[in-house]
Amino acid sequence: MEGTAGVVDWEQCRGPGAEYAYYCGLLQDEVNAAIEGAAEAGAAQFLVNDSHGQMRNLRPDALAGRARYLSGRHKPMYMVEGLDPSYDAVFFVSYHGSMSSAASTLSHTYNPKAIADVRLNGQVTGEAGINALVALGHRVPVVLVTGDDTTAEETAAFCPGVVPAVVKRSVTRFAADSLHPAEACALIRSAARQAIEGLASAQLPAIALPATLEIRFLHGDFADMATWVHGVRRTDVKTVELTAEDPIALYRTFATVVALTRSIVE
Ligand SMILES: [Zn+2]
Repeated sequence: MEGTAGVVDWEQCRGPGAEYAYYCGLLQDEVNAAIEGAAEAGAAQFLVNDSHGQMRNLRPDALAGRARYLSGRHKPMYMVEGLDPSYDAVFFVSYHGSMSSAASTLSHTYNPKAIADVRLNGQVTGEAGINALVALGHRVPVVLVTGDDTTAEETAAFCPGVVPAVVKRSVTRFAADSLHPAEACALIRSAARQAIEGLASAQLPAIALPATLEIRFLHGDFADMATWVHGVRRTDVKTVELTAEDPIALYRTFATVVALTRSIVE
């Protein structure tokens, strides 16, 4: 939701409240624009996995394309729950930059109260790169990303050929120059259409295997706790590392570590 045009503050994307309800409407319009663009290019079936906050930010009856809606918390595959090899493509809609990016609206990497940054095979990654592990595991290409300029760049680093719909330019972490919502939706719609039209030549995420995730936390307690999970190695006071040949297994371990961090700071 942080990547939606106009969103610049936590209050706008965390309920309850009138402002949150308004911005949920803008998110809904952007999700629908992505579905409609894909449908124009021939896509016929859609699954929307709500991955933001409490993961129930949309109105199911207002979803375009008669999309199924996977919502609610506590999903083992978190932001990529529901994906399997039967899918043709993945869209990352309303994404945001990584915690360590220079300036990206509401930047964070999974848990802003715990994680300082994450590297995938040595390169800083946001949520898009981490989530791309699962797409790679199922051999489904990530073909569309929507959000700000930084998010588009960070996603392209791991998802070559991904079509970007840049709906805002971040000025700082709490300021952005956004397109008008109608313009943002038009851009997303045409990018989604282009992404599906180009499916025949779409590439899988470019992540060498075995892959390593390095997680640097804000303080050492988190790193200590992370080592309770099998396969997680502590490399210094605030940092842990995990490696796997299977990218889906690697993601599952990462998601487990994230869930554990929430027991300290939520
Ligand atoms: Zn996030």
